[in-house]
Amino acid sequence: MSLHTRSLAELAAGLRAKEFSAVELTRHFLARIEQANAGLNAFVTVTAERALADAARADAARAAGRAGPLSGVPLAHKDIFCTDGIKTSCGSRMLDNFVAPYDATVVERLAAAGTVLLGKTNMDEFAMGSSNETSYYGPVRNPWDPATVPGGSSGGSAAAVAARLVPVATGTDTGGSIRQPAALVGISGIKPTYGRVSRYGMIAFASSLDQGGVLAPSAEDCALLLGAMAGFDPRDSTSVDVPVPDYAAGLATSLKGVKLGVLKEFFSAGLDAATGARVEAAIAQLRALGADVVEVSCPNLPLSVPTYYVVAPAECSSNLSRFDGVRFGHRCQGPKDLLDLYKRSRGEGFGAEVKRRIMTGTYVLSAGYYDAYYLKAQKVRSLINADFRRAFAEVDLLVGPTSPTPAFAIGAKVDDPITMYLNDIYTIGANLAGLPAMSVPCGFVGNLPVGLQLIGPHFGEARVLAAAHAYQCETDFHRRLPAGFA
Ligand code: GLN
Repeated sequence: MSLHTRSLAELAAGLRAKEFSAVELTRHFLARIEQANAGLNAFVTVTAERALADAARADAARAAGRAGPLSGVPLAHKDIFCTDGIKTSCGSRMLDNFVAPYDATVVERLAAAGTVLLGKTNMDEFAMGSSNETSYYGPVRNPWDPATVPGGSSGGSAAAVAARLVPVATGTDTGGSIRQPAALVGISGIKPTYGRVSRYGMIAFASSLDQGGVLAPSAEDCALLLGAMAGFDPRDSTSVDVPVPDYAAGLATSLKGVKLGVLKEFFSAGLDAATGARVEAAIAQLRALGADVVEVSCPNLPLSVPTYYVVAPAECSSNLSRFDGVRFGHRCQGPKDLLDLYKRSRGEGFGAEVKRRIMTGTYVLSAGYYDAYYLKAQKVRSLINADFRRAFAEVDLLVGPTSPTPAFAIGAKVDDPITMYLNDIYTIGANLAGLPAMSVPCGFVGNLPVGLQLIGPHFGEARVLAAAHAYQCETDFHRRLPAGFA
């Protein structure tokens, strides 16, 4: 079996058995990046030298009997995570020249676990987007069909894992940016509970929604990586001090008697029929595995898109005020005074979508409009939370589609923000309520992958991962590779 077709668990086992070294494994993936990245545009930065040094260190640790379970495993970080001494662009011209002076907690923890950093992945600018077309570094291509998008905003991580240029990657999910790209490229992706993974060193977009997580071929791989990332961090005041269960050990939990709620609102008119059919087939399979399937309604969920597109821009307008050309970010040439410096630095540094969000955000927060928009959105957010609370009083997990359609053509929606925002209709609810949610591949429409979404109660990651794993023990969609990347 070639190295890149193995799962993370299989690679870790191979390293443990000394079937191959971390340096050999790293060279294999670096060669794949070298060969395919130009076509996919999945990486902003490839850290080949650093990767080989990390790998040599992991091999030395193994020789000395000090290797941990993830020692020598290669990975990539979304370019939103600060990496000490490595450019951290957040997909923006604003940070094109920014070399982070420290590691994000996620980066630090995974490095301490002995992983090998292959590089930083492309993303929508400041994680704002659903197609990876807002990046300053150009669109990422979907390995299943290069004329289509890989989804966003973690599109670079998703495409890199789908094409097996890297075994696993990190991502962030504010409104679906792990799950939606995972669905569109046929891999697994988990957004944990808000507060489960530290956001220290993760560049902020909308702080009440942002959460880091994993993109990987399988639920088992997600469990292994999430276990190493999660946990309390005193440097993030939103990080929660709840013990991290052994996610990998919990995977064996059967689906027998697990109550699955099919979210009625997720099977509405906007759902592409063929996509819906694949998701329904997957739900039937979960039932065959012993789950008890019932229909559940969260009546306020259809309001999640307008709610999110008030709350997220409001928070982003505040978070992004720090990029002023003085303290952080791009600085214009020859400013004539302070106001000119601000205006031109921000005007040149930010792209169109980020500017649209900042303007929307400042508008909904402004005196006279605050009550009508921002406060109203916060109230609807509470109603959506209450819907989920009621649902989880009845069922263990909620299921539905991840995205209303498979991957769409590059360019098809860039000029129509409302249509683009509607891609997030099934993913945003979990962010507004802070719930853990995951997408797993569940079939194809033509040549393009479809994702099944599983949503759990707060800190229910283990339950979500176990259900996804049970499904993947019976299916092989997560093992299929796009033509040309086998
Ligand atoms: N597509 C959503 C947006 O554009 C979600 C992005 C995200 O989760 N980072 O805001």
